[in-house]
Amino acid sequence: MRLALAEAGQAGDDVPVGAVVLAPDAVTVLGAGHNEREATGDPTAHAEVLALRRAAARTGDWRLSGCTLVVTLEPCTMCAGALVQSRVDRVVYGARDEKAGAAGSLWDVVRDRRLNHRPEVVEGVLAEDCARLLTAFFRTP
Ligand SMILES: [Zn+2]
Repeated sequence: MRLALAEAGQAGDDVPVGAVVLAPDAVTVLGAGHNEREATGDPTAHAEVLALRRAAARTGDWRLSGCTLVVTLEPCTMCAGALVQSRVDRVVYGARDEKAGAAGSLWDVVRDRRLNHRPEVVEGVLAEDCARLLTAFFRTP
């Protein structure tokens, strides 16, 4: 999560959310990303999507079975869908997103029993640090 927080810190004008994909050994970082929607003009450039893309590019396989995605903020519906599609085994997030979260708050897409792949979810890791970054960002005029 410290690595994901460091990624979030590099988001510049974008909302400070960072994500890393860890290999099955839980140590090797396969991909990392922070929000780049403002930077790239790409509506899908969320930290999780970028980290998943980079991890898949690095491994040469869209299936990220055994991998863990760590992200500072609860994934939105798009990212939750991408996490299911990538077959990651575990999703670890920091702060909850009560307004748009899709991993337990508003929806629970990642653990929906109707889907054929349901990653394990661990929430609340360094939640205060993750939330503090966001609060500071939105408070800045
Ligand atoms: Zn998202």
